[in-house]
Amino acid sequence: MAQSVWGYDSDNGPERWHENYPLAKGDKQSPIEINSKDVQHDSSLSSWHASYDPGAAKTILNNGRTCRVVFDDTFDRSVLRGGPLTGAYRLRQLHLHWGSSDDHGSEHVIDGVKHAAELHMVHWNPKHGNFAGALKQPDGVAVVGIFLKVGKTPKPEMKRILEEIENIKTKGKEAPFQHFDPSILFPKSRDYWTYHGSFTTPPCEECITWILLREPIEVSSDQMAKLRSLSKNNENEPMSPLVDNWRPPQPLKGRIVRASFK
Ligand SMILES: [Zn+2]
Repeated sequence: MAQSVWGYDSDNGPERWHENYPLAKGDKQSPIEINSKDVQHDSSLSSWHASYDPGAAKTILNNGRTCRVVFDDTFDRSVLRGGPLTGAYRLRQLHLHWGSSDDHGSEHVIDGVKHAAELHMVHWNPKHGNFAGALKQPDGVAVVGIFLKVGKTPKPEMKRILEEIENIKTKGKEAPFQHFDPSILFPKSRDYWTYHGSFTTPPCEECITWILLREPIEVSSDQMAKLRSLSKNNENEPMSPLVDNWRPPQPLKGRIVRASFK
């Protein structure tokens, strides 16, 4: 497997990432399967708060592995605080993982349930100087994970991201994406699970405090189809649907998942 070509296919997918990225076989890997019966309610877990500046949104891009929205993180402009975190973490980017059909696509699995997609909002701890520095620290990064499920009352707020997909159909395309407040994507409930884990993509650094929201947001089957209309190939290559860009659950290895709710 060449260094630059990790992906989600049989020849370069999650089962082979460790060949070039040994961290992928570490003790604190993500995602995981969460079983309600093993979760510890922790009454000391406070609520989390996001304070996002719509002016921090910059661009949306297709990198052949996901669709990502990038934010300005050169100062404490859009931050996440509270919950299991100490201090303010800066929002850097958000992206999604999804399936080839509506019955799977999320990375975290809850009591055996897979959702159609999972949204990750990636924040880093500025006390480590820069993003690269934060990746090397156990408290370097905080990711808010939101499940997307297909339902009858789709969240209109997803529309903005999905309508831009027309402009980033193929790998390497990037389009301006301005004046966007990602907090509109949060579900009503702030209940969450938290545990220490890793990025779900190589090099799979174990620097993440996960804040996984219990309540999924709803999207329509049409909206999911739109995500699947992205191509993982360049525009001069044949269309190859960007789907199933999720990593399966990894061993818990003694870690405890805590819940903010009973
Ligand atoms: Zn992700």
